[in-house]
Amino acid sequence: MRPLLLRGGRVIDPAAGIDGRYDVLANDGKIAAVAPGGTLAGPEDADIIDCAGLWILPGLIDAHVHLRDPGFPEKETILSGLRAAAAGGFTAVAAMANTNPVNDAPEIARHMLALAAAAGGARLIPVSAVTRGLAGRELVDFAAMAAAGARLFSDDGMPIDDAALLREAFSRAAGVGFAISLHEEDRALTGQGCCHAGAVAIRLGVAGIPTAAEAARIRRDLAIAADSGAPAHIAHISTAAGLKLVRAAKARGANVTCEAAPHHFTLDDAAFARHGPNAKMAPPLRAAEDLAAIRAGLADGAIDLIATDHAPHDSASKRMARFGPLFPGDREAAPLAPGDAAALAGAANGVVGLETALGLALELVHNRLIDASRMAALMAANPARLLRLERQGTLIPGALADVSVIDPDAAWTVAPEKFLSKSRNTPFGGRRLKGAAAITIVNGRIVYRAHRDK
Ligand SMILES: [Zn+2]
Repeated sequence: MRPLLLRGGRVIDPAAGIDGRYDVLANDGKIAAVAPGGTLAGPEDADIIDCAGLWILPGLIDAHVHLRDPGFPEKETILSGLRAAAAGGFTAVAAMANTNPVNDAPEIARHMLALAAAAGGARLIPVSAVTRGLAGRELVDFAAMAAAGARLFSDDGMPIDDAALLREAFSRAAGVGFAISLHEEDRALTGQGCCHAGAVAIRLGVAGIPTAAEAARIRRDLAIAADSGAPAHIAHISTAAGLKLVRAAKARGANVTCEAAPHHFTLDDAAFARHGPNAKMAPPLRAAEDLAAIRAGLADGAIDLIATDHAPHDSASKRMARFGPLFPGDREAAPLAPGDAAALAGAANGVVGLETALGLALELVHNRLIDASRMAALMAANPARLLRLERQGTLIPGALADVSVIDPDAAWTVAPEKFLSKSRNTPFGGRRLKGAAAITIVNGRIVYRAHRDK
């Protein structure tokens, strides 16, 4: 592999305290040097890429994706998912365990890593289940899963209802030093809910999911985690009430982090009224005041990272044949007939996110809610810290040569039919975005390069 010299871009590396014009040299899979722009010569055989006008970030890391492999190739595979990740600017993704079979045994984790090594896209980090089969009854072998490559534990998709079992899980997680990522949902409160319990649910005539379904579980789990010695990570936080609890725990010095998904910092439940199944996820899009709280948390540090919760689904799982015509996308749906309202709960939860996350995060930057360095912390440095990837999330010499080169001003329109992901379930189709991945580099090798019509 030839050395790679990225010349004259704006390097944004908050872990190294750098934001300015620099050259970056990658050699032998590692960052070899970072020096003021125009000063680095590099070896004679280096490939030189002019990065004028571009941003050079530590490779973006998504701590929460669903790649559906093994088990659901009609939705996504490790191959398609890791290519979609690279196209979205990500150099590593943490793949949740709700596959079939569930990733609750070392041989499953090793199988996923072998497929990922052959895929040639972003890196894959297996997330181990907390409980066997995600059944919430028996804990996995934490040490064996960590030895097989897991760097996070989660039953995501399913909450862990048994408080005593969760307490024991934290004690095991403390033994291996990795965090437990928590899907905070009290299913008794969710019931048959399709969207946030608010004016939109009432107008459409569908059952709603109250704020308490999330907040009550966050309160319980923060109490359980408090004296465990293990880090707790709150996945896809969606409510102002939940975030307030996380803020209070952090103020007490608790070992807790949390993430927000692009859909939760961009949309409120009005989008559900327009897009129906393509804006249906767990937790749901919330009220306008929740959206404002999530945005404030991203800006002031209460929220530690952006994670997509990329959740690909085929149109049959989303019941698009039935519900697509009822949700026109460009305007709100009419109130649903009682039979439709009841059946909508059966449409699968989740939206794809890998190929839109960066553009949506850059919206926050362009709108001056966060600066570029904060975005790099939310999408690279902090996810690396959560997953304890000491040689990622930064571009200091010696770090892995995982780099996201970004064109912050590239204007484009989200076209789901062009996604490299196998699935199209997104409420962002047709949205105009500014900024996208230009070049994605993993281990010193270019795994994605944009061909964009300017
Ligand atoms: Zn979840």
